[in-house]
Amino acid sequence: MKPVIALVGRPNVGKSTLFNRFTKSRDAIVADYAGLTRDRHYGDGRVGKREYIVIDTGGFEPTAETGIVKEMAKQTRQAVAEADVVIFVVDVRGGLSAQDHDIARYLRTAGKKVFLAVNKAEGMRDSPLLAEFHELGIGEPIPVSAAHGQGVRSLLDLALDDF
Ligand code: GDP
Ligand code: MG
Repeated sequence: MKPVIALVGRPNVGKSTLFNRFTKSRDAIVADYAGLTRDRHYGDGRVGKREYIVIDTGGFEPTAETGIVKEMAKQTRQAVAEADVVIFVVDVRGGLSAQDHDIARYLRTAGKKVFLAVNKAEGMRDSPLLAEFHELGIGEPIPVSAAHGQGVRSLLDLALDDF
């Protein structure tokens, strides 16, 4: 069985950009078909001989009944339930938000292995801003830049380490 990696996090932190890095499908999904990630949440990836599946908790399209917060929570729960390992994506430029804390609280009790990816960290490997994310209680913040491909491979190696 291929390990399943779920990418969770509030909107706009860079989950889909990271998804496309993990699945090497940047052009097909983001640039050419901007709307597609809303429907397509699964991708196949491979690093060396290791194969995996990635879930992008993409389009939080709220219905009138649910609203965005509920829809986000639902998608996050579904993805986490299906996953062997979770990557919680936050945004070092946007900083910590109440939504990040809500998601962290949920993930701490979800019983899955979780890695904390601090995205948009290009040129910020040693920035003191990274330390702020310890307060989420998810472990060591791992700086990445999905857009620039920095730290993406080491994050993937960490996530796949147990498989
Ligand atoms: P999602 O809503 O979490 O799926 O986020 P997206 O992947 O759609 O990205 C949201 C925005 O952040 C887009 O404008 C991306 O180009 C931008 N973005 C994603 N990754 C990075 C990054 O590593 N650095 C910077 N500076 N911007 C990024
Ligand atoms: Mg997205």
